[in-house]
Amino acid sequence: AARATTGIQGLKAYDPGHDLVAFRRRCGDGRLVELGSNENPYGPSPRAREAILANLHMLHRYPDPLGGDLKRALSARHGIGTDRILLGNGSHELLMQMAQVFAGPGTDGTAPEVVAPRFGFAVFALATQAAGAHLRIAEPLPRDSAMPLGHDLDALLAAITPDTRLLYVANPNNPTGTWFGAGALADFIARVPREVIVVVDEAYAEMADAPDYASALGLLDAHPNVVVTRTFSKAYGLAGLRVGYLIGAPGLVAVMERLRESFNVNGLALTACEAALGDEAHIEQARIRNAEQRESLSADLRGRGLEVFPSQTNFVLVGFGREAAPIESALTERGVILRPMGGYGLPDCLRITVGDADENRRLLAALDECL
Ligand code: PMP
Repeated sequence: AARATTGIQGLKAYDPGHDLVAFRRRCGDGRLVELGSNENPYGPSPRAREAILANLHMLHRYPDPLGGDLKRALSARHGIGTDRILLGNGSHELLMQMAQVFAGPGTDGTAPEVVAPRFGFAVFALATQAAGAHLRIAEPLPRDSAMPLGHDLDALLAAITPDTRLLYVANPNNPTGTWFGAGALADFIARVPREVIVVVDEAYAEMADAPDYASALGLLDAHPNVVVTRTFSKAYGLAGLRVGYLIGAPGLVAVMERLRESFNVNGLALTACEAALGDEAHIEQARIRNAEQRESLSADLRGRGLEVFPSQTNFVLVGFGREAAPIESALTERGVILRPMGGYGLPDCLRITVGDADENRRLLAALDECL
């Protein structure tokens, strides 16, 4: 008999917005301006490509299930033990698993709760629902504040109840691009009850250069209920390989390891990420170029009378002061792919990935035809 669609049956699949594969086929790769998924226009370190080519003879072998070499490289990078690192098939997988492991149904029949911000990464809500937990949404800071639609940390704290198991927050945040400073982060973490696990999603951390920005990694020793997730998809330019990682207390990581699919990160990805980590100059270049382009693109958009949200990421949220869907489709027809925000409850906004200088020029030219 049909039952109410709860949990996984009631889910809507994650929707990246466009069938890009069909688009590329129609338009040809080079003609599209793909600014919809916050990818890195400069691509990965050449060392990643070399590592992949050097390991092609290993395709018939299973990869190292523990990803030991990559974990050791990450351990050296962050100055933490390998027992505090968990590798995932993208950080998406790790965000999903956090809810599955820590917010699944209680044996006593209680329904665990998860707290997340209204304008947070879509996977937070998806993971919560897939785990069968109840989602409590915290409202953001006002749109006319200094950090428009940024996380209201007091509202997040107020949403915590005795049934809360997990709290998701991203810093810097997607889809707003906003962030919160080191002092606010430390104060927030100190006020979260220790029974609640806090996931600080730092997918864009490498892009953040604001003087007041700080990673939560520095707080982990004092707060074993906090975990940080990172990804190779953004600054490292390796979105196609699908590798993310989580850093947390050894006990928590050990519990997560039980659920991990045996070879969740493939062999070429492991070796490429290890090589990419060794090329710090490449990341530094990506960071500098992104910051330059973010600034000039933001100024150019503001010059067109648009609302540009402050960003510490490789994208900007842009308000058009009217329904943005027609603008978005007109841009799509011109081969410029942006991310619509209707699904996030911001129908007057589009999210624009900061491209390279040429892509940003082509975006602005197309926009001028559409506005
Ligand atoms: N967190 C945030 C905030 C993101 O924006 C993204 C990607 N859009 C992810 C996590 C997932 O990244 P990946 O699965 O590629 O590591």
